[in-house]
Amino acid sequence: MTFPARLIPALAAISSAPLLLMAADPAKPIIEVLKQAPEQPAKAVEKTDEEWRKILTPEQYRILRQAGTERSNGPVYSEFKHQGGGTYFCAGCGTELFSSKEKFDSHCGWPSFYDPSKAKNIKTSTDYHLGYARTEVRCAVCDGHLGHVFTGEGYNTPTDKRYCINGTVLKFVPFPTETKAPAEGAPKKE
Ligand SMILES: [Zn+2]
Repeated sequence: MTFPARLIPALAAISSAPLLLMAADPAKPIIEVLKQAPEQPAKAVEKTDEEWRKILTPEQYRILRQAGTERSNGPVYSEFKHQGGGTYFCAGCGTELFSSKEKFDSHCGWPSFYDPSKAKNIKTSTDYHLGYARTEVRCAVCDGHLGHVFTGEGYNTPTDKRYCINGTVLKFVPFPTETKAPAEGAPKKE
């Protein structure tokens, strides 16, 4: 089968085009998984708008820098629910924020923790974006918006607080013991 000559460049362009325009690679997690903890910033991280856009995905930028919210019960939440033990870091600056030790299933559709793992790395303020007062949660190091915290909702956790966090703006580092554990049924080395 032959194509008219004028179509050949177009066909070549299609076949060699990267898959950027197609759906995101399902094998690549949205919550980036790192092998080891990122270096912790020694001081506040400040960047220009342009610099933030360079290092963040558009969705991370929308959430961290424009106080956006990811879709509830979406692919991010599903990833989060299936993650094992580990530590969560800010996708903007790498600061440690949360740990699976304080993770709980609130059924709210967003990643939930009852406490930060490093309280000094979190700051809160009141926002009225929805017309009523909510306590906004930000990364204390890069000032990125993470989500909100709600108190006294009746959860059976040590604090009865729900840090309702956008998983899109977290990076996950699994606890070392879990990454080194041999797969079930793997032959034992003597
Ligand atoms: Zn940060």
